[in-house]
Amino acid sequence: LLIFQPTDPVPPDIQFDVTRRFHADPKENKINLGQGTHRDENGLPWMLPSIQMAKISLGEINHEYLPIAGFQPFLTEATKLLFDGTEALAKERIASCQSLSGTGALMLIGLTLKKLNSAPDVIYITDPSWVNHHLMFTTIGFKVEIIPCYKDGDFFFDAYIATLKTAISGSPIILHTCAHNPTGCDPTRDQWKTIGTTIKERGLFPIFDSAYLGFNSGSFDEDAWPIRYFLEKLDIEVTVCLSLAKNMGLYGERIGLVTCALSSSSAAKVAQSMIQNVQRATITAPPAYGARVAAAILGTPSIREQWAEDLVVMSSRIRKMRKRLYEKLQRLQTPGDWSHIVRQTGMFAYLGVSKTRVKYLEGQYIPQTIVCTH
Ligand code: PLP
Repeated sequence: LLIFQPTDPVPPDIQFDVTRRFHADPKENKINLGQGTHRDENGLPWMLPSIQMAKISLGEINHEYLPIAGFQPFLTEATKLLFDGTEALAKERIASCQSLSGTGALMLIGLTLKKLNSAPDVIYITDPSWVNHHLMFTTIGFKVEIIPCYKDGDFFFDAYIATLKTAISGSPIILHTCAHNPTGCDPTRDQWKTIGTTIKERGLFPIFDSAYLGFNSGSFDEDAWPIRYFLEKLDIEVTVCLSLAKNMGLYGERIGLVTCALSSSSAAKVAQSMIQNVQRATITAPPAYGARVAAAILGTPSIREQWAEDLVVMSSRIRKMRKRLYEKLQRLQTPGDWSHIVRQTGMFAYLGVSKTRVKYLEGQYIPQTIVCTH
């Protein structure tokens, strides 16, 4: 039986393929603009001081399986990080499960929603969005509908709200909590308020895709504001897919959390059981090392203080790089308006450079000639 033969190979993932081409490129002065990973001034991965402290604090560890839901100290600390002081946490209305980073968190909630008796057909994502959203949710069996969110270097609020108002009630919607991937254009707080009210009116189920909390502004709480506003001020059930890849520099450890703050403790119990059931069906139990490191950071006051500083270091460097790029383009009198580079936020900038030019920059351009040296 030749079951794979009548099918063509799937093209490589566009984001990972940039990294592959980067490694294959023999040029010396090259920068990988594909995957979002923080780099220091030498272009190298930065080992956060807080991570180093946490690793030392772990001492000898064993390599036993974790429970299906994950490492309990991590679950407790990460849930508190998001929901400390909320009524939902006090009244045990929260279900939390450790996940394979942000991607795994989205997968767990997607598969869980699909198993409900009232399983929704449609899920809403932004256009454009993180490249994996469409692939993941169609793979899970959703019909993916898109909501425009970008125009001329800014968040396209009017089009976003107009489409949101036509969304099918009961459907999940993916919200980029901050540092929108790939545009870098976030709603203002006032716009978030209107988005929240509209979501409530339409009876949608918001899923906050939170890959950059603390990494954007330098403050976790500042970046998590929309989540708490929806939950506490608008009284909406929320799900958070939290990644600790960027904000803790734990990319390859695949550490994250899916957590649902629901309207009753009985609903939270059902959600907890269903998410764990999906975890069992897909990976059985999550990996332990990143969870131990993250729990040590969050649960040890001195290490947590260091982590708060590390977030400021990383986010400030990103802002500085954006400013320098903008200033250099200005100095070189590059045609066009580049102010969106400093208006947009986070590690992504939607440059608006054409495909032909990108191909030229990657292929023929000799970077040594105008490398930014300061
Ligand atoms: N969601 C968004 C919007 C992202 O930008 C990313 C990573 O780039 C992720 C989720 C998933 O990241 P990870 O699985 O590495 O935590």
